[in-house]
Amino acid sequence: NLSGRLQQVIKTLRGQARLTEDNISDAMREVRMALLEADVALPVVKDFIAQVKERAQGREVLQSLSPGQAVIQVVHEELTRLMGEQNSELNLAAVPPAIVLMAGLQGSGKTTTSAKLARLLKGQKKKVLLASADVYRPAAIEQLKTLAASLEVDCFDSNATQKPLDIAAATLDYARRHYYDVVIFDTAGRLGIDEAMMAEISKLHTLLKPIETLFVVDAMQGQDAVNTARAFGETLPLTGVVLTKLDGDARGGAALSVRHITGKPIKFIGVSEKVDGLEPFHPERMASRVLGMGDVLSLIEQAQKNVDLDEAKRFADKVKSGKSFDLDDFKAQMQQMRNMGGMAALMDKMPAQVAGMAGQMGGEQGDKAMRRLEGIINSMTPSERRKPEIIKATRKRRIAAGAGVQVQEVNRLLNQFEEAQKMMKMISKGGMAKMMRAMQG
Ligand code: GDP
Ligand code: MG
Repeated sequence: NLSGRLQQVIKTLRGQARLTEDNISDAMREVRMALLEADVALPVVKDFIAQVKERAQGREVLQSLSPGQAVIQVVHEELTRLMGEQNSELNLAAVPPAIVLMAGLQGSGKTTTSAKLARLLKGQKKKVLLASADVYRPAAIEQLKTLAASLEVDCFDSNATQKPLDIAAATLDYARRHYYDVVIFDTAGRLGIDEAMMAEISKLHTLLKPIETLFVVDAMQGQDAVNTARAFGETLPLTGVVLTKLDGDARGGAALSVRHITGKPIKFIGVSEKVDGLEPFHPERMASRVLGMGDVLSLIEQAQKNVDLDEAKRFADKVKSGKSFDLDDFKAQMQQMRNMGGMAALMDKMPAQVAGMAGQMGGEQGDKAMRRLEGIINSMTPSERRKPEIIKATRKRRIAAGAGVQVQEVNRLLNQFEEAQKMMKMISKGGMAKMMRAMQG
């Protein structure tokens, strides 16, 4: 898949201390193939590669300390830019009711997404009305009513004997009289080439005057998804795209092409068939995910919120000054990690490489193990924590009894600590870069 292939390119690049034009060309050929195979549209691939190549051969990269890493950074930035730079929020700035019109092919996920959006907005304390004008597919209106009932959201009482335009007019009237904040208007699936059906949705648009007209499209359709979005956009003034079924084995190409080809931002992605499976779309985070870099941004946000900065600084100073690293420091480090949500939460967002290494400890199991280690350290006297080498057999038995563990576990902790101490020595001598290299093998 796309991620896997790009990660392979990254691995090769990262290993290179110096980059030549040939290195870059080889890497770009690989990236190009990976993108085409993921069904990214050809003009998008061409522009993208040209952009990355130009920057990769520029001073910014070649004069950097690790050119391989700098190229990866360029690829990441360009991927982000391709997808629209920033998250585009749902725009509801209209005289209420704000209308959201849903459009797309049959089976793309319009009805499901309507319900997901209603749930999201209800969570934001909005008074939401769902309505369906899908009078063509049997039971389509029932499907929306059932979803609405399960979410405890109101659904306008339309039925398949009515005309879609009449449903729209009645919905609007009802929503105004009952002071709804938002109306999510679900429609029948249609093809961009079906002139009668496209004329119908144009009329619905004229009547409803939606502030948002969302094109819902199945990511698994790859380039076709992008082409249908463009065709719809020629008839209907779309304001955004919802890319559904990204949880399946979608090749991912659609996410990369939509913005460039249609000029419309992806506003949400569907990540499961359940009603909570809708996420705001963040280009930067998607680029990280595609490159297997993990959701580093979320990780940093989390770290900034939860880490005790004074403690972190104290620790950094200690490491720099080459002072010895004792069991109290070891414990403080574990506590910091726990404040950040524990191993399980961290692993999800870590780059593939690091997560692989940490995987040996296991997410939730890692958390449990960490708590046991803390228990053992708590059972030690202050002098034992400062000078673990004084801990001999009888002391070990006392500590184990105090923490309610076996003596072997105390031994294991002391061994782990010794490893950590070695690592700290390495940092204070050779700096972070040396340690990272050692870890990457
Ligand atoms: P509509 O014809 O456009 O209204 O499509 P529906 O909302 O009825 O969805 C068609 C099918 O796709 C249903 O089986 C949904 O459960 C499924 N579906 C919709 N969105 C998603 C998604 O994000 N992920 C997954 N896995 N399935 C989805
Ligand atoms: Mg439907």
